[in-house]
Amino acid sequence: SKFTGRSRVTVYDPQIVDADHSNESLAGLLAHAIERQCISVVYQPIVQLGTGEVLGYEALMRLKGSNGRLVKPDVFIPVAEQNGAIVELGAWVFEQACADVARYKLTGIVAVNISAVQLKAPGFALRVAEMLARHGLAPRQFALELSERGDILGQSQAAQAVEQLRSLGVQIWLDDFGTGYAGIDCLRRFDLDIVKIDRSFLPERQCAQDVRMLEGMIQLLRSLGRTVLVEGVETEEQKALLEELDVDLIQGFLIGRPQPVGEIVGIENSEVA
Ligand code: C2E
Ligand code: CA
Ligand code: CA
Ligand code: CA
Repeated sequence: SKFTGRSRVTVYDPQIVDADHSNESLAGLLAHAIERQCISVVYQPIVQLGTGEVLGYEALMRLKGSNGRLVKPDVFIPVAEQNGAIVELGAWVFEQACADVARYKLTGIVAVNISAVQLKAPGFALRVAEMLARHGLAPRQFALELSERGDILGQSQAAQAVEQLRSLGVQIWLDDFGTGYAGIDCLRRFDLDIVKIDRSFLPERQCAQDVRMLEGMIQLLRSLGRTVLVEGVETEEQKALLEELDVDLIQGFLIGRPQPVGEIVGIENSEVA
C-alpha cells in the first residue's frame, strides 16, 4: 500500500498532549510505568529520498500520564535520565522493539534511541546482545541512535559498550548532529553508519544562509563517507531542497508520523515518498 501525496504541513502532533506533572509526580509515574503498562513504543518511518523505499523506523517511547494523556518525551526523558529510570525504561523499549520485529516479521531496520546514561550502565552491551539472541534477530537489523547532546564520550565504559555492540553487528547512528559538542569527535571516534542532522537545521523557508549551512554539514558528512539522514521533514518544499542537496534518507511528518506497530505493518516494503 502507498500513502503517496499525503502531505501535511501541520507541526502540531495530536498524539502528544502536555500533561501537568511536577517532576516529583513524574518520577513516581516513571518508577511504576512498566508494571502499570503506561509506556509504549511508536514507530516513525525512515525512507530513501531517491526511491521512497522504507529503510526502517525510529522507535519512540510514549508515556501515559495519570490523567490518561500522553506526556511529552521532552518532559519525561530528562527526568528519567536524571533519576536513572531511563535504564529500565530504555531496556523495555528495546525489548518491545525486538518482540515487535519478531512477531510482525518486520524487515526494516529499527533504530532505538539510547541515552548516555544507558550506555554507561554496567552490562548494557550484554543486555542488548541477550535480547537480540533470545528473539533470534540479526543485530544488523537494529541501530542505536546516540544523541550528541548527551555525554556519550564522557566515560570509557560508554565508548566500550558502543564498540562491543558495533562488533556484534548492531548499527551505530549519530542523532541530533549539529546541536551538541560531541558531534565532530564522534565522527572521528566511531564508525557511524548514519548521521541524523537535527531538524533545527532544516529551514522552514528557503533562506540562503540556512541552506548554505545545511549544505556545508551535508558536504562534511559526505566527505567522511557517512550516510546522511535529515529529520523533521514537514513540507514538499523541504523535501525538494533535500533532493537538491542529495540527502540519502529523510524522516518527518510529511512522510509518516510515529504510529503503533500495527499501523506500520502495512507499509513494510512499500514506497512512501
Ligand atoms: P529525537 O530522537 O530527535 O526524535 C525525533 C522527534 O521528532 C520525535 O519526538 C518525533 O515525534 C519528532 N518528529 C518527527 N518528525 C517530525 C516532524 O516532521 N516535525 C516535528 N516538529 N517533529 C517531528 P518525540 O517522540 O516527542 O521525542 C522527543 C525526544 O525524546 C526524541 O528526540 C528523543 O531525544 C527522546 N526520546 C524519545 N523516545 C526515546 C527513547 O525510547 N529513549 C530515549 N533515550 N530517548 C527517547
Ligand atoms: Ca532519535
Ligand atoms: Ca533526532
Ligand atoms: Ca532531534
